Amino acid sequence: MKLILLGAPGAGKGTVAKLLTAIDGSVQISTGDILRGAVQAGTELGKEANGYMTRGDLVPDSLIMGIMEKRLQEADCQKGFLLDGFPRTIPQAEALTELLAKLNIKLDMVADIDVPRDVIFDRLCTRRTCSNTDCQAIYNIKSNPTKVEGICDKCGSPAIQRADETEEAIGHRLDTYNEKTAPVAGFYEKKGLLKKITGTSSDVVVAAIKKQLGL
Ligand code: AMP
Repeated sequence: MKLILLGAPGAGKGTVAKLLTAIDGSVQISTGDILRGAVQAGTELGKEANGYMTRGDLVPDSLIMGIMEKRLQEADCQKGFLLDGFPRTIPQAEALTELLAKLNIKLDMVADIDVPRDVIFDRLCTRRTCSNTDCQAIYNIKSNPTKVEGICDKCGSPAIQRADETEEAIGHRLDTYNEKTAPVAGFYEKKGLLKKITGTSSDVVVAAIKKQLGL
């Protein structure tokens, strides 16, 4: 499947993407995960992105398009991909349209996961993420805690609160989402690709996406 998962930070895009990859081997491509990996590895990309990310601002479109242009041409994308956290601005959506046309790739659907802001705010404040950049498993201290406090069940690395998950940065990320990313839904609605999915449970969202795709 070739999908874009839209939705505010904390809407569950990452969790839903991981569940969908199990269906047909499509890969999850999370620009946030790629950027956090680059920050931790101390690469030039990471150094450039770090300040924006810590403040909860978007990284410039040119950096993101550089990442995606390479990533979408890697061999593992042939089976399909789930774009998680990209595109996040209208210029990114326009550049992606051009890139996909150049690569002769057609999207199946854009799923817009709709979750109320108060639920999202609470979720992000209590979210924990595995600090191992090859893992980045997601937990929640209330609804999905690690078996051993602060330790990832999957790889044993510390599961931590992200630097951009302080209350202040979360508020800013949600405002940025409303201003810059929410209009991306309209962009895909005009193309007839958008499906709005309402649900706070990832299983419900996955079932709705599968139904839309006829799976
Ligand atoms: P996420 O894990 O998707 O919440 O992304 C974490 C942070 O990475 C965001 O707050 C942005 O600073 C940056 N980021 C991730 N994806 C993008 C994107 N498509 N465009 C711009 N910045 C992004």
